[in-house]
Amino acid sequence: MLGLMQDYPLLTHTLIDHGALNHGEREMVTRSVEGPIRRCTLADVRSRSLRVAKALERDGVTLGDRIATMAWNTERHVETWFGIMGLGAICHTLNPRLFGEQLDYIVNHAEDEIVFVDLTFVPILEALKDRLGSVRKYIVLTDADHMPDTSLPNAVAYEEWLGGVDDDFAWKHFDENTAAALCYTSGTTGHPKGVLYSHRSNVLHGLMVNQPDIFGLRSEDTMLAIVPMFHANAWALTFSVPAAGARMVMPGPGLDGPSIYELLDSERVTATAAVPTVWLGLLQYLEQTGSKLPHLERVVIGGAACPPMMIRKFELEYGVEVIHGWGMTEMSPVGTTGKMKHATSTLDREAQLKLKEKQGRAPFLVELKVVDDEGRELPRDGKSSGHLLVRGPCISRGYFKLEGSALTGDGWFDTGDIANIDELGYMQITDRDKDVIKSGGEWISSIEVENVAVGCPGVAEAAVIGLPHPKWSERPLLIVLREPGSEVDAEAVLGYLDGKIAAWWMPNDVVFVDEIPHTATGKIQKMALRKQFKDFEFSN
Ligand code: AMP
Repeated sequence: MLGLMQDYPLLTHTLIDHGALNHGEREMVTRSVEGPIRRCTLADVRSRSLRVAKALERDGVTLGDRIATMAWNTERHVETWFGIMGLGAICHTLNPRLFGEQLDYIVNHAEDEIVFVDLTFVPILEALKDRLGSVRKYIVLTDADHMPDTSLPNAVAYEEWLGGVDDDFAWKHFDENTAAALCYTSGTTGHPKGVLYSHRSNVLHGLMVNQPDIFGLRSEDTMLAIVPMFHANAWALTFSVPAAGARMVMPGPGLDGPSIYELLDSERVTATAAVPTVWLGLLQYLEQTGSKLPHLERVVIGGAACPPMMIRKFELEYGVEVIHGWGMTEMSPVGTTGKMKHATSTLDREAQLKLKEKQGRAPFLVELKVVDDEGRELPRDGKSSGHLLVRGPCISRGYFKLEGSALTGDGWFDTGDIANIDELGYMQITDRDKDVIKSGGEWISSIEVENVAVGCPGVAEAAVIGLPHPKWSERPLLIVLREPGSEVDAEAVLGYLDGKIAAWWMPNDVVFVDEIPHTATGKIQKMALRKQFKDFEFSN
């Protein structure tokens, strides 16, 4: 027997409808790419999102078409998200920090038809345009006055394009499991893989992160959404902020310490979210200027392990609560947050700060478990580390256009992280199974760097591992086994890599060893190398 409740599909545009109807006066503030601060309301954002949908339909876009964005966090970018999704098309966020071949692959794999692009990124697409065969139109997110002279074919200024339609448009109706958004994530080897969110997963996830023990957004909050919309679904903020009716501040391209501080202060921001590298810039600025954070209540830090020093500085020196979070693109992306709970509320301050170094505990809608190499579940004792598996309604089960399931035989997703879970449910990442390095929130493929390095004359074998770095969270160390008789040195190896890999992938140091450890199947034992070099200090 079925229940007798209404059939009300969870569609992303219902979030902006709710925000506009019940909190329509709430502001969205943007540091624009053109420079000045722009202000509008949630009601304006809804109205302009409807116009985006109407203009896209006029341009022939329909259910399931892929429409890309390459843009900073701005109100215009938010409008494109709701407009694309509300038409039933799929919003594909392009990460401008990827290099040419990856972007080229991603756009072609997704078969993007239209790209919304910020002024900053026009040159990136101009360099690639001849290889982006599926794209039939470029919409530059600016007005006619700022429209650049561009070689992009069929390019139009966003405000002019939008000017041709009004907001008299009805959102489309479709099943809540319809695809809403696409975000590619870099794998260890091979091409990036497309994570395909549904309307249902996005709505559920937006609500999930608003739980008081997760980000806890309230309508009184002002959220500075620093985590880029081209990263991991912007940690759900595009959905959770209108759901809460909170005020949203968008930093545009200004992610440096002084620019972030200016918005935190002038806009009286109460909550914010970003990766540790961004916070390092802010903390340095605060120290240099003696500035304080009187309005800020809490800061979400994730995407990479939050350094203990950062937790202490925010909490003890600036009186800001740190919410350390962990997750991944495939999880929509939030998986855990480290808020205190009843059983930890009686711990002394020092013990609580220590606990915050862990990655946190699962909210409702995320299940975690840790298993050994044979797939047997390990005890929740805070010591037994193993493969971290997850499941839930906002977690991927496959990748776009890839055959087969991404899950284990019994339906769990293997995160590639190695972790333990303690008796109270707090999870701690202890290592990484997947062979990648996360620098400043962006992935470096160690395998690709190794493949190039072994081409250097005199190099017999190369291994690249990520080691902690004070500014970038992790940086690559290149470990080289020389060919017999070779005297190849660090300078020669780095010189060889120069120009063959992205500049920011360049290893910070090279060390030479007599042996590189291997597994029984001949793979380099990265975990053993990370242990061997755990005390290594980069020279830069
Ligand atoms: P992404 O899909 O780019 O968001 O990357 C997800 C991966 O980043 C996770 O699987 C972890 O390896 C890493 N990660 C994210 N948050 C944290 C954290 N708080 N501590 C340690 N690693 C993290």
